[in-house]
Amino acid sequence: MLPSLTINYKCIFCDNCRLICPEGAITYDKDFYLIDTWLCSLCNICVELCPVDCIQYTTRDNSAKEREVERLLHFPISSKTPS
Ligand code: SF4
Ligand code: SF4
Repeated sequence: MLPSLTINYKCIFCDNCRLICPEGAITYDKDFYLIDTWLCSLCNICVELCPVDCIQYTTRDNSAKEREVERLLHFPISSKTPS
């Protein structure tokens, strides 16, 4: 399986990775960042630049599942408790 990168819930939205990526592979959309695995050349610049070390290597087979988990982690949690 080929390695790819994913951004986890520790992201503080500093935007550094999106601005520095030489391939334009990182986009911001609806409160979370995505890395396009087809554009990413695995140059490692964003991994080294991230101030909170939240960009991690994973396998392509797991990336879709992890993105879904991260999307859910960023989903606003209702302040109401079920009755
Ligand atoms: S590893 Fe390089 S090409 Fe891939 S997302 Fe990070 S900065 Fe962009
Ligand atoms: S550099 Fe790290 S903390 Fe900053 S936006 Fe990118 S992933 Fe998030």
